Amino acid sequence: MNLLVTGAAGFVGSAYVRGLLVHDPEVRVTVLDQLTYAGNPANLPTAHPRLEFVHGDICDAVLVDKLTAGADQVVHFAAESHVDRSIEGAGAFVRTNVLGTQTLLDAALRHGVGPFVHVSTDEVYGSIETGASTEDHPLRPSSPYAASKASSDLIALSYHRTHGLDVRVTRCSNNYGPYQFPEKVIPLFVTNLLDGEQVPLYGDGRNVREWLHVEDHCEGVDLVRTGGRPGEVYNLGGGTQLSNRELTGLLLDACEADWGRVRHVEDRKGHDLRYRVDWTKARTELGYRPCRDFTAGLAGTVAWYRDHRDWWEPLKRRARTP
Ligand code: NAD
Repeated sequence: MNLLVTGAAGFVGSAYVRGLLVHDPEVRVTVLDQLTYAGNPANLPTAHPRLEFVHGDICDAVLVDKLTAGADQVVHFAAESHVDRSIEGAGAFVRTNVLGTQTLLDAALRHGVGPFVHVSTDEVYGSIETGASTEDHPLRPSSPYAASKASSDLIALSYHRTHGLDVRVTRCSNNYGPYQFPEKVIPLFVTNLLDGEQVPLYGDGRNVREWLHVEDHCEGVDLVRTGGRPGEVYNLGGGTQLSNRELTGLLLDACEADWGRVRHVEDRKGHDLRYRVDWTKARTELGYRPCRDFTAGLAGTVAWYRDHRDWWEPLKRRARTP
């Protein structure tokens, strides 16, 4: 079985491919990744005999057509993914997340490729003060990032309703784990603390996120690929709910630092207060059940960054070079 996986030089996609190559001896994987600032081929076992890496853009219709023609299925992770960057400028988000997704869908349709798993986020539902968003909750994205993902979800689902393409959408909560680019809150805070620097906490720190280990997310994506239904959306949640302030406290403890290292900064524009997804559908239909313990998972993640300075130091240096 030939699987085309987009964006797998990034955080979540690389975890998915690393796991799949270990657990499924039948699968051959082609990764298509543009290697933006967030993509790093060192995240992948590029010499693996069942892995081919192609450096390219999901908006390149000719390249996408060629790769899709040789694929049986697609798992689509490629995206611009950082909310703060989308607030600075939304163009790359609309281009990659919306146009890139449509380019892939067109190619999948031409070549009869499916399932096409479109990996999305809980942020499409917007902030929910109490309870949890089910899959039919209205889409009320706040940031340009979330809006571009919601747009791509709708385009993807339209290819199922209009053309019958086997599209399946996943919407997951915040992930943590190794190989995450050190601009996102957990690797940013951990690497700053390991370097003796301060960490920037937005506003009063009361915004709540649900944290799921990246490997639990990847297992959920694969359950959707192998057992999900065409045209359906599956929420993937079940992580640990924490305010940013609580998360900061845990990271300070893990890095043996105190609150003197925290710098309070102006809140993010349009900062959603809370996300929470209802994942009953994935649990009852697919047997999805996250199994990584948060305390152990967070400790393992902090240890990974402590032991892999060679991975993140060049990325932070490059990010600081004007
Ligand atoms: P990431 O930023 O770490 O990686 C994105 C990858 O996509 C990079 O390797 C980058 O080079 C590649 N890419 C970007 N533009 C491209 C283009 N035009 N063509 C080809 N490749 C391109 O992101 P991530 O955190 O791994 O997220 C992956 C997916 O999972 C995204 O779709 C995101 O919305 C979704 N998601 C992430 C989380 C999370 O907590 N990280 C949670 C839920 C959903």
